[in-house]
Amino acid sequence: MPDNKDYNQVSVLVVGAGPAGLATAIQLKTLKPEIDICIVEKSADLGNHNLSGAVLEPEPFHTLLDEAAPGWRDTDAAKDVLANKIDKDDIMFLLGKKLSFNIFFAIKLAKTFRLGFGQMIHKGDYSVSISKLTKWLGQIAKDLGAEVLSGFAAGDIILDDGSGKAVGVKLADCGLDKEGNRQPNFVEGEIIRADFIVLAEGCDGLVTEKFVEKAGLQRQSPQLYSVGVKELIKVSPEQYNKFKSSRVVHAMGYPIWTPVVGPGMFGGGIIYAGAQDHLSVGMIVGADWKYCDFNPQDALTNFKNHRFVRQFIEGGEVVEAGAKMIPEGGYYAIPREPETGNIGKTNVMILGDGAGFVNMHKIKGLHNAIDSGIQAAKAISQTLDTPESSASVYSELVEKSNIAAEMRAARNFRQTVAKFGPLQGMPLSVLGGLLPKFEVEKDYETMTIAKYRLKPNQNFDKDTFTAMAATEHREEEPSHLTILDAEICKTKCTSLYNRPCITFCPAGVYETINDQVKPANPSNCLHCKTCQRKCPFDNIRWTVPEGGGGPRYKRM
Ligand code: SF4
Ligand code: SF4
Repeated sequence: MPDNKDYNQVSVLVVGAGPAGLATAIQLKTLKPEIDICIVEKSADLGNHNLSGAVLEPEPFHTLLDEAAPGWRDTDAAKDVLANKIDKDDIMFLLGKKLSFNIFFAIKLAKTFRLGFGQMIHKGDYSVSISKLTKWLGQIAKDLGAEVLSGFAAGDIILDDGSGKAVGVKLADCGLDKEGNRQPNFVEGEIIRADFIVLAEGCDGLVTEKFVEKAGLQRQSPQLYSVGVKELIKVSPEQYNKFKSSRVVHAMGYPIWTPVVGPGMFGGGIIYAGAQDHLSVGMIVGADWKYCDFNPQDALTNFKNHRFVRQFIEGGEVVEAGAKMIPEGGYYAIPREPETGNIGKTNVMILGDGAGFVNMHKIKGLHNAIDSGIQAAKAISQTLDTPESSASVYSELVEKSNIAAEMRAARNFRQTVAKFGPLQGMPLSVLGGLLPKFEVEKDYETMTIAKYRLKPNQNFDKDTFTAMAATEHREEEPSHLTILDAEICKTKCTSLYNRPCITFCPAGVYETINDQVKPANPSNCLHCKTCQRKCPFDNIRWTVPEGGGGPRYKRM
């Protein structure tokens, strides 16, 4: 590497200031207050890129804060973020546009017989805004002395050619024009050198996936994703009271799958209580859908129009919206070093959604993300003189933790559903660990010429949706989305599938211009990465835009 550059050097570098990365900083500052730790985050402000349902199972969170910030329960932030403690849990089965059945008894039955689904009880958990939670954790990390740098996008990880140990992380360049030429304000992305590197970027992280490839990590099964689209809706006080501030609803069936015929997709709807007079309404769909004209926002429209949902939101006003992917592949999709099984390599550890720590029996991963941050901090504190062994110690700690126990127990779930479809796969998945590991296709390989037959009458208003995500990028920067081969779009994709990226991108980024499909509106991008995983020809690459760009979620 050239010597004329100003390299920064820190002991611990965390990529991504989400719950996992911030938990690392908070736990580490508690164990070793003297250690210097820097967190780089691509969003303009903490929490801006964090979107989730979200249900928080509180144990790891309590463990973390009880030690790091005694008295946290009495703070205004705690009262705000943890205002909605769940004591009413419903699982609705929707049939057609009007019928609904509460099948929560089935979950209770499953719990009695210790079946995986029995974990889908959220009583005692919190329905939270993950954006607010992240902002709060960020403030605690800063108060403890961690350096948290928002607006700094990490673009690559640099490995030492000889040892394979990671040297540092290169930040993205700023100040290029659309053609990639340097402008007067050009700033080359610095390299931040570090002894320990913690990858906590969330689902399908750019640096994480580069590291997986460069370091030769492997997954036993491809990562399977789902796409979540969510709206925060201001409703009337009567509707909010009718729903109840302590309630969460998960819905299955219409419009994603039905028992007899119809769309055989995995997923469902959610309704969670938020702050006073606000309800979160969302639709989560497995990205292995087969319909070339499908858009999860269409399913969200159908869900919102169902009689059961409509009673709570009719006449309400959407005040925020967004989209994100969720890693659902579970235990077999965790990236590991083939020889050792380590979740990372040498001095690099992979955390949270980046590792795929989502328990599909609970449909939750936030508690595991925080727990993985705690384990990473413990690993660092135990290997201060031997950073190259930190990934190994981290992996041992994860294996002994609740994370691995949960992930192992739910290990066959998503692959079974992917293989047999929700109707047969969900009941079959009850056999859990008795089942073999089924081979599954990558999400982009499942596209067919079939059409989604429940298309709503009106096109979804993507412009308003995008405006509600408050997404922004510098208009003059190069597009961070690349179509690898325009001819594939023109010759193969148009005739077979009619250019699905134009339909499924929740922000309307892709358009046909002069008979060519282009990422025409990259500044609208919500960073959900759906296009990178669902283009049927694997023809799209998402690279990192300048730091500070992207959605600006406040209450998602
Ligand atoms: Fe089809 Fe992918 Fe081209 Fe879009 S980018 S038109 S989905 S091949
Ligand atoms: Fe998501 Fe890709 Fe559309 Fe951006 S361009 S919003 S990453 S699908």
